[in-house]
Amino acid sequence: MSIDPAADLPFFYGSISRVKAEDYLKLGGMSDGLFLLRQCLRSLGGYVLSIVWNLEFHHYSIEKQLNGTYCLIGGKPHCGPAELCEFYSKDRDGLVCLLKKPCLRPSDTQIELGVFDSLKDNMLREYVKQTWNLEGEAMEQAIISQAPQLEKLIATTAHEKLPWYHGKIARHESERRLYCGAQPDGKFLVRDREESGTFALSMLYGKTVYHYQILQDKSGKYFMPEGTKFDTVWQLVEYLKMKPDGLMTILREACLNGKAVEKTPSLPATRRAGANGYTPPPRAVAGASTPVDTVPAERDILPMDCSGFNPYHNPNEVKKFNIQRSQLLMDEVELGSGNFGCVKKGVLKTQDSGQIDVAIKVLKSENEKLVKEEMMREAEIMYQLDNPFIVRILGLCNAENLMLVMEMASAGPLNKFLSANKDTVSVENIVNMMHQVSMGMKYLEGKNFVHRDLAARNVLLVNLQFAKISDFGLSKALGADNNYYKARTAGKWPLKWYAPECINFHKFSSKSDVWSFGVTMWEAFSYGGKPYKKMKGPEVIRFIDAGNRMDCPAACPERMYDLMKECWTYKHEERPDFNKVEESMRLYHYSVSGKAKPEGAAAAAEPVK
Ligand code: ADP
Ligand code: MG
Repeated sequence: MSIDPAADLPFFYGSISRVKAEDYLKLGGMSDGLFLLRQCLRSLGGYVLSIVWNLEFHHYSIEKQLNGTYCLIGGKPHCGPAELCEFYSKDRDGLVCLLKKPCLRPSDTQIELGVFDSLKDNMLREYVKQTWNLEGEAMEQAIISQAPQLEKLIATTAHEKLPWYHGKIARHESERRLYCGAQPDGKFLVRDREESGTFALSMLYGKTVYHYQILQDKSGKYFMPEGTKFDTVWQLVEYLKMKPDGLMTILREACLNGKAVEKTPSLPATRRAGANGYTPPPRAVAGASTPVDTVPAERDILPMDCSGFNPYHNPNEVKKFNIQRSQLLMDEVELGSGNFGCVKKGVLKTQDSGQIDVAIKVLKSENEKLVKEEMMREAEIMYQLDNPFIVRILGLCNAENLMLVMEMASAGPLNKFLSANKDTVSVENIVNMMHQVSMGMKYLEGKNFVHRDLAARNVLLVNLQFAKISDFGLSKALGADNNYYKARTAGKWPLKWYAPECINFHKFSSKSDVWSFGVTMWEAFSYGGKPYKKMKGPEVIRFIDAGNRMDCPAACPERMYDLMKECWTYKHEERPDFNKVEESMRLYHYSVSGKAKPEGAAAAAEPVK
């Protein structure tokens, strides 16, 4: 899941103790400037640099700042642990000596995972499960696509979800609750202190309740008097379960709050309220007709935040082959149109999920059998797909016309959305959406389907933070032992999105979808710009064959442009696949979304209109 930014460094050991670090340095020869990096056990995302000088060990804490940079206490900020170590290999800047020689991790030694690594993962899972009612693959996808945002969320609010957290209760009430039932040593709860806005820990020991104030320093870290400091309350509690750190004993059994006792795993997503029972007012989303409710005002919406029918979920319960005409209400509003007919807004009435907003692809009635078959094929492909980042089919309805009923992506096509919201959508936001597209495409590649029409016009937005791939009109399922589809004749093809082998040999594979993904990225980072300007199809082919590629869009980060160019590798054998593309998108997405927003982009967090 979330990857430690130091994981690639051969001198990073993970979560090892000071003693163990010193053992490794002894084994490494104890030369001056010999160093290694290890995880800091106390601060979220921090490290310790251990260095040898004059046959002695020196350990320096590296802190992760709130803006995502790293620095030694009192030192300069650096964008990552690697950059920091490189800096100190050239500039001593207060260290005992320069970093001269990395103490390499033995080849048979894995990076040691910390208690908090696995804890954090579990917390994250539990949080996603409880908050959005997600499970299985949908949960995994949510975690991959939103890890930085989720980590931030759990770090600050996770304790509210935990069974030992009792909210704002009086001291005497905490005593009443602790004395209720069995009274083992170490039974504990955490509560909000009534006046001060800080937390208190109340614990039973020898049949007596002791109260401790949880202190907070200026930077917001939590600690017991004289104890170790932590970024979050839940980390402190987990630590106190292992070490007393000044308490009478370690924390053992949680005194359960009412919610945990009721054993309701989650409230329905639609009626979720804030921790204090306050349901924040709905927030409008650009282009979206149904405002997302229940999103606390202080954070951005996530793909999983939805009211009513949630297009993030597996809608299997509403997926039917045949939808009755009486279940469908069709709006006059046209969402789009094409040769086949038009796409209309509508409502699907279901037994379990109530009324669902849908998009209905309506076949023109004069269309003959051939076109009907084409639409059936499109439906057949969509039936086999189930991923949050792919528009799902809900069913077919054969009435006055043949109709394909899909979940609604009400903010519309990506290219139009971006060109209409140029000033408010940040680059980080585009990275997030394109990462989701790469996740959808990775899924498609894994299922052995080729899309053949991937373009910004066919990426539809549910909202500002949630993109779905659509339009499977040209898509094909590849046989088990075929990795490409051979078109017999060329059709009305989107040549500007097609890889050379599609045009020259009519060969379509996931690798040619990767080429199209590169063009889609270009469209996205140029805020809905037209690729290859005014060039016509044949001109584009000559342009590409001559070794040219489109320029980097003005707002596009260098690493994203590098990835585009990789997608435009001429030979498909040498082009990356979606596994690789998704990984690159993910790493970049994680590296930018944990950081403070640059000035000007802050507006994107506000409702866009
Ligand atoms: P075509 O094959 O003609 O490109 P599409 O499937 O791309 O057909 O649909 C055409 C247009 O209809 C889209 O560009 C979009 O504006 C609208 N549309 C299609 N599907 C949906 C959907 N699920 N939600 C919202 N709008 C949609
Ligand atoms: Mg289309």
